Amino acid sequence: MKLKFLGTADSGGIPSHNCDCSICEEYRRKGKKNLATSAYIECENDEIILLDAGIEDIASIFDGGKIAAIFLTHFHPDHALGLLRLRYSSDKIVCYHPKDKDGFADLFKHPKALDFMENIPFNPIEVNEFKFTPIPLKHSKNTTGYLIQTKNKTIAYLTDCAGISEKSMEFLLSCTIDECYIDACLAPNFSNGNHLNYEEATLVLDEIGAKKSYFIHSSHFTLEHIKRNNIELKYDYI
Ligand SMILES: [Zn+2]
Ligand SMILES: [Zn+2]
Ligand SMILES: [Zn+2]
Repeated sequence: MKLKFLGTADSGGIPSHNCDCSICEEYRRKGKKNLATSAYIECENDEIILLDAGIEDIASIFDGGKIAAIFLTHFHPDHALGLLRLRYSSDKIVCYHPKDKDGFADLFKHPKALDFMENIPFNPIEVNEFKFTPIPLKHSKNTTGYLIQTKNKTIAYLTDCAGISEKSMEFLLSCTIDECYIDACLAPNFSNGNHLNYEEATLVLDEIGAKKSYFIHSSHFTLEHIKRNNIELKYDYI
């Protein structure tokens, strides 16, 4: 199993609109772009499973491919924007998501091809050869990360969190995790209560102790802060 990222940035993306920081300028110069955090995995039968759907263009990216399911972490637009077009798919697509009475825009009123299914924390959901267990995370909207397990690999996808509850940590510590991806949106001096900064994220990753650990949901401000101050990180942003 390989988690493939469509983007690993925060909602502003990199380059951020009209920002002249050195990171945004470098991305522009190199023709690089990093959009909001979302990922997918390929199944043995060639179907794909989406983790979040924040890239607006996602319906076109996977046009012609069968989407077996979507596992949404939460309904912030940078994770859900692509659903607005995916709902016009000719296929029925099941979208598992945490409890959220508002959801995103009018999607619950007009779901069309999307079949919204509320996940239950710590209750595994099986799709093809994978098992997805929702893990509650602390964020400004009800949010669950996912533990993804297949025969020979376990991945923790923990995007958008300002912290991890005792119960969620207990669950994570009860598993042997091969790869862990965690929100490290902020620099320590930019804390806003909705995301981890990279120092807090480092402590969480140390505690989880996965075989490989990475930072996601990067902000151009944070990357610039790291570059400007020559900060050596224990884990890499991808
Ligand atoms: Zn910038
Ligand atoms: Zn969010
Ligand atoms: Zn986000």
